[in-house]
Amino acid sequence: MTLHYRAAVLHRPQSPLQIETIAAAPIAPLDVLVRVLAAGLCHTDLEVIDGSLRYPMPIVLGHEAAGVIEEVGSSVRQLKKGDHVILSWNPHCGHCYYCDRNLPILCEDYLAKGARAVQFDGTSKARRASGEELKHLMFIGAFGEYCIVPEQQAIAVSRDIPFDRACLIGCGVMTGVGAALNVAHIGHADTVMVIGCGAVGLAAVQGARLAGAAKIIAVDIDDGKLALAQRMGAARGVNAKREDVAAAAREETSGRGADVVIEAAGSAAAFGPTVEAVRPGGEVVWLGKIDVNNEVSFRWGALMQEKRIRRSSYGDARPARDFPMLARAYLEGRLMLDELITQRIRLDAINEAFSALRDGKVIRSVITFG
Ligand SMILES: [Zn+2]
Ligand SMILES: [Zn+2]
Repeated sequence: MTLHYRAAVLHRPQSPLQIETIAAAPIAPLDVLVRVLAAGLCHTDLEVIDGSLRYPMPIVLGHEAAGVIEEVGSSVRQLKKGDHVILSWNPHCGHCYYCDRNLPILCEDYLAKGARAVQFDGTSKARRASGEELKHLMFIGAFGEYCIVPEQQAIAVSRDIPFDRACLIGCGVMTGVGAALNVAHIGHADTVMVIGCGAVGLAAVQGARLAGAAKIIAVDIDDGKLALAQRMGAARGVNAKREDVAAAAREETSGRGADVVIEAAGSAAAFGPTVEAVRPGGEVVWLGKIDVNNEVSFRWGALMQEKRIRRSSYGDARPARDFPMLARAYLEGRLMLDELITQRIRLDAINEAFSALRDGKVIRSVITFG
């Protein structure tokens, strides 16, 4: 019997998402059917809506989600009905050039199929009532009551973490905490500057704290977000509208600059200051995205003196290792997630919530189902 469920569908860029009843494909042997119970609205979804990130359509967006396993395919071995899971958007083949070099985020299969917006086995897993095939953003498509993913993308976590908080781990929190724990090399004597205090930046502040940084400096243009960053571990908040970011970094480090600078602002203007604010020999991690055809600029002299820049999409996530670790950090009080949720909404309010994200009014809106 075909499963029908409600989902938000984007038909063309710069148009509202439409709530439709769609039909799920049969469960393939390696697939699991996930009843989505919470999904976060991430900036990447907004980039697709606004047209700066281009995908085939009609498409179901949403890639930061948690839910319950409802059904498993005949060859699924690790998961069972009833498991609580967080979804990963980085399926990978495990044996291509990049997988063999420990870079699953560059997996050849992942990159080739990602642009087509199909699920990882190359097929679509949902259709509109008209029969038209739907695309899925980032191998998930979580803005619906269900989604079908291969077993490797559903990571079982403790049943104790509520779904609305668990979902955040799937993208924003993994990316930010991962930048600090997996990508950067943060020592206990280090000063870390985080530029941009949205969900990813606030997670990076907490990642720097978990990594044992001696001092964390948070930068944003919103005093409310800076106050939140200070609650999460930043010693100082720098409002980039009023203060010079590089000067603030030098002030806090006897004139050297920050040992590590993590960018999570996602605006062209934020990249230059990262290179200015880091010390000689220091490490810069860029997490934010802008339109791929835009250029960024910085003063060449700022990059001299052995500085390193590393770009990261997912904080070097190893979901099977990291998601349960992050869930445990939340349950043990070491990772603040409640504070990242500005509002919980129903699926029908999704367009208003994206407008609020566009206006910088929210950290995270989370859709709750059921
Ligand atoms: Zn995301
Ligand atoms: Zn691969």
